[in-house]
Amino acid sequence: MTDQYAVIGNPISHSKSPLIHSMFAQQTGQDMSYEAIESPLDGFTATILRLRDEGYKGCNVTVPFKFEAFKLCNRLSNRARDAKAVNTLIFRDDEILGANTDGAGLLADIEKNLNFKLMWKDALLLGAGGAAAGVLWPLFNAGVGIVIANRTLEKAQLLADEFKGSGTVYARRYDELAGKQFDLVINATSSGLSDELPPLPEALFKPGALAYDMMYGRDTPFLRYAREQGATTVSDGLGMLVEQAAEAFFLWRNVRPDSKSVLEKMRA
Ligand code: NDP
Repeated sequence: MTDQYAVIGNPISHSKSPLIHSMFAQQTGQDMSYEAIESPLDGFTATILRLRDEGYKGCNVTVPFKFEAFKLCNRLSNRARDAKAVNTLIFRDDEILGANTDGAGLLADIEKNLNFKLMWKDALLLGAGGAAAGVLWPLFNAGVGIVIANRTLEKAQLLADEFKGSGTVYARRYDELAGKQFDLVINATSSGLSDELPPLPEALFKPGALAYDMMYGRDTPFLRYAREQGATTVSDGLGMLVEQAAEAFFLWRNVRPDSKSVLEKMRA
């Protein structure tokens, strides 16, 4: 019988995950299906439990449910525990296992695909939702100094508090960024969904800087801003999407797909 998987979010119609996983499955000869399912905003738990009871093997979780998914799990990977957010669920017997592959996906895209070395760099991370939480510890562990800026400062502060005493992770309001410069600016807000730009000052980018928008599939105001402001490399989040999907695929199927060729096909 074909093993069933899905990605759960709201909204979800824009998701490229079904296409990516079908390419992985074809490439590796896995008998599986993968669909996009929109969950009502107040019905995430019911949606997940229904899929599990119907015999699905696992799910990806996206905006805005990653924190709820974390609370639903019986067992967690280290990365999910660090992030307190889950993007990959595995249904095993009566248990729900939770992992977070966003950080590994982002790091693989930045270091491997974009050839940008992270060690000792200074990053500005915009946003303090599930995506930001998922990449914070992996960035920190890669030796990156991080300023987290968010519309709701308290959420950024909560994330930064986990690194108290490290001297390398701080929370700031957007209006405190004027005059600061970074090697790497990552947009982990969902502002692109509403075609908006977080209120960023001029001259944020150091020479050689990388501007990275986690959003993919459209030319966002952040990508336009980064080009206008002279960021050396400007990238959307398609590579992260493919790389985090490859990690999830490996967790589910115990087979590593060739992410590079899938990314090249998606870009083409
Ligand atoms: P959440 O809903 O958990 O968090 C959204 C964040 O965006 C919050 O920090 C919120 O601020 C901020 N935000 C929303 N609108 C605006 C705005 N107009 N101006 C400034 N800030 C804003 O979402 P996620 O963290 O799960 O996802 C964020 C984005 O990252 C999405 O676009 C998602 O598609 C993308 N993503 C891409 C991945 C990839 O593989 N490429 C993987 C994961 C995510 P506040 O707290 O003040 O409300």
